[in-house]
Amino acid sequence: MDARTRGEIRQHLEGRVARLRERSRQLEDHLERLEAEEVRDSADKAVAAKQDDLLGRGVHANRAEMQQIAAALERMNRGDYGVCSECGEPIAKARLLAEPNATRCIGCQERLEQRGSAAT
Ligand SMILES: [Zn+2]
Repeated sequence: MDARTRGEIRQHLEGRVARLRERSRQLEDHLERLEAEEVRDSADKAVAAKQDDLLGRGVHANRAEMQQIAAALERMNRGDYGVCSECGEPIAKARLLAEPNATRCIGCQERLEQRGSAAT
């Protein structure tokens, strides 16, 4: 992978992390507000619990994605980023932008999935 492509992907990932961080902050704020609110009756309580659950999952998913991106950036720093672990060919830039943690090229990934041992 050339330096220019790596730079582009790094920039994309760093932008994504910044947005995720902001989103996490908003979700956490919202969760805290929900928890602080008086819940009047059991119907409201059910709605609140559901919202709480959804928000909690959102926070969790955001964190998981941030960790994945951090791992991708770390591999980039080590210099073993963007190379297929199966065939050693470079992984397409578009694929890396969509799936920063991909460790296989699309061809190898599809072959694996067809064999029924799908993993990214
Ligand atoms: Zn491959």
